[in-house]
Amino acid sequence: MFIHRPPPGECPHLSRRVHVELRIPQSGVLDGKLGSVEVEPGKPSSGALARLAALRQHRRGEQRSPHKPLLVLLALGRLAATGTSQLPWSEAEPTLAGLIAEFGPPSRTGRAQSAAYPFTRLRADGVWVLDQDVPMDLVGPLAAGNVSGRFEASVEAELRASPELARAAARDLVLSNFPDTVAPDVLEAVGLDPAMVLNAVDVLPGAAVVPARRRDPAWRSAVLLAWDRQCAFCGYDGQLAAASVGIDAAHVRWFAFDGPDALDNGLALCVLHHKLFDLGALGLNCRLQVLVSAVFTARTEAGRAVYALHGRNLTPRPGTVVPAEAHISWHAREVFKGEPLRA
Ligand SMILES: [Zn+2]
Repeated sequence: MFIHRPPPGECPHLSRRVHVELRIPQSGVLDGKLGSVEVEPGKPSSGALARLAALRQHRRGEQRSPHKPLLVLLALGRLAATGTSQLPWSEAEPTLAGLIAEFGPPSRTGRAQSAAYPFTRLRADGVWVLDQDVPMDLVGPLAAGNVSGRFEASVEAELRASPELARAAARDLVLSNFPDTVAPDVLEAVGLDPAMVLNAVDVLPGAAVVPARRRDPAWRSAVLLAWDRQCAFCGYDGQLAAASVGIDAAHVRWFAFDGPDALDNGLALCVLHHKLFDLGALGLNCRLQVLVSAVFTARTEAGRAVYALHGRNLTPRPGTVVPAEAHISWHAREVFKGEPLRA
C-alpha cells in the first residue's frame, strides 16, 4: 500500500490531490515457531527488544507510516489485558482498521486492506509471527484461515517478564508517531492506561544512543505572543488571572516528524482546535484559510460551530511570521482527513 503524493512544497489543497494505489510485489514470508524463552524479570536482553525499539524510527522519509506501530500498540494492550498478545485476524481486522482510519494519514485504501498490511508485514521486523504461512498483504487468506498473530516468542517472553519494559515500548512508539495531543487517545484506544504508559521509565535498548530532540522552552510563549494570545482559528482568548488558559502553541508539522520549534511552524490554537487540527479534522491551505474536513460531523449547536470555521482567513497582526508552505503542505498530506467541506 503506497500512496503517490504531491511533491514536497506543492500545496495539496491548491493543486489537485492525487492518490494512486500500487500493489507491492509479494515477497518471502517470515514465519516463526512459538517456543518458550526464559527471561530474568527486569533484565531486558538486547536482541528481541532492540528490534522492537527499532520500530520507533520506522519512517518513509517525511511520510507518516503508523500502521506497524499501531499493531504493536494493539498487541501490547492485549498482552497487558489478557497475558498474551495472541490476536486472531477476525478481531484484529476491525480494531486495527479503525485505529488506522482514526489516527493514520489520509488514505483511500480499504479498511481490511489497511489492516492486512501491518498484520502480515510486521513479520519482516522480527517481532511478529503468524500461525499460518500466508502471503504478504492479502486479506483473503487471513480471513479464510482466521490466521492468528502474536509477538515473536522471545519478544513476548521479555515483555511479559517486565511490564515496565512493555510500558516503555508503548510510550516510545506512541510518542515517536503521534503528537502529545493525540498520544493519550491512541493509548486508550488500544486498551493501555495513558497515565501509566506516558510516565514509564525509558529502559529500551538504544534509548541512550538516540537522544530525543530537545524542545525549545521559549517557543510556546513566542508563538502565543505572535498570535495575540488568541486562537488563530476561532479567536478564543481566555485568561485566568493574567495567564492565557486553554490556548496552546501548536506545531503545523508535528515535532515528532522533524517539525521545528520555529515561528513559521507554529499557531496559537485553543485546546479544542489544537486537537482537531492534530487529528486532521481541521486544516489549513496555503492561502492561510481554515479548512474543515468533510469527515468531521457534529449534531449540536456547539459542535456545528466548527463548520463555521471553514474558509475563515487567519488574521495575524502585522509582522507575525505565518506558517511556511512546506509545513502547511506536510500537514495537508499527512494529517488532514479526506476532502475539505465544499465552500
Ligand atoms: Zn479555537
